[in-house]
Amino acid sequence: MKTPVAGIVWLVGAGPGDPELLTLKAVRVIGEADVALVDDLVNPAVLTHLRPGARVIHVGKRGGCKSTPQAFIEKLLVAEAQAGHTVVRLKGGDPFVFGRGGEETAALDAAGICWEVVSGITAGIAAPAAAGIPVTHREAGRGVAFITGHTRDGAAVDWEALARSGLTLVIYMGITHCESIVAGLREGGMRADLPAAVIQHATLPQQRVIATTLSRLTADIKHHGIGSPAILVIGEVASAAQLTAQTLIHHAAVA
Ligand code: SAH
Repeated sequence: MKTPVAGIVWLVGAGPGDPELLTLKAVRVIGEADVALVDDLVNPAVLTHLRPGARVIHVGKRGGCKSTPQAFIEKLLVAEAQAGHTVVRLKGGDPFVFGRGGEETAALDAAGICWEVVSGITAGIAAPAAAGIPVTHREAGRGVAFITGHTRDGAAVDWEALARSGLTLVIYMGITHCESIVAGLREGGMRADLPAAVIQHATLPQQRVIATTLSRLTADIKHHGIGSPAILVIGEVASAAQLTAQTLIHHAAVA
């Protein structure tokens, strides 16, 4: 039997939701794939770029299935590439921003498999933008920090230090722990009336935006029933949140 020539793994960012926010390169490599391993935040419309006959393996946890263990995904990537296939690993947003891309490339390196990353538009930029919020601004936001509100080992993020940094805070996966995040930021000296925004399902037709303040953030999320996926933006720039028909719940108390 001939030894198969090892294939390649493309780690492709599928962007925040709107399928038009894919890069041209993503569209090209998706079209070249023999098999696609797909996370569940990837819009199914993206899969229309696959060629007929390409296999699709869903490895996400939404839609009723339990999340596929990361180690299994890594083994599958290696096995498919070793079988000589062109593999596309499709991830929401950007593969290297809270996407476990680094874990997967390490596994591929260990197995001697070639890989390449196709950057995607990360939700931390696209979601604020979709609500009209620039994450940096010459007057109001001299820099931006991308932070996870949910650490794997439960290790605490130093919210007090971040509060003192003066950076715009863009928080992924922040809904569940919002209350303790806000408490940490207040302890670090952030003003109660500092502008804050929440963008759920950004760039999709069901997008919802809340414009509020730091102290009202948790109550507003609860009141409006906002769940994942959502991005929190905390900082002066969040005051730019746009009032767009149907998409914005603008808190009356924000003046
Ligand atoms: N790699 C992805 C992030 C994956 S972590 C990226 O670069 O965007 C998953 C988190 O991303 C979600 O919990 C949410 O905080 C955020 N997210 C992803 N898509 C989103 C969307 N359309 N709207 C709002 N937040 C989103």
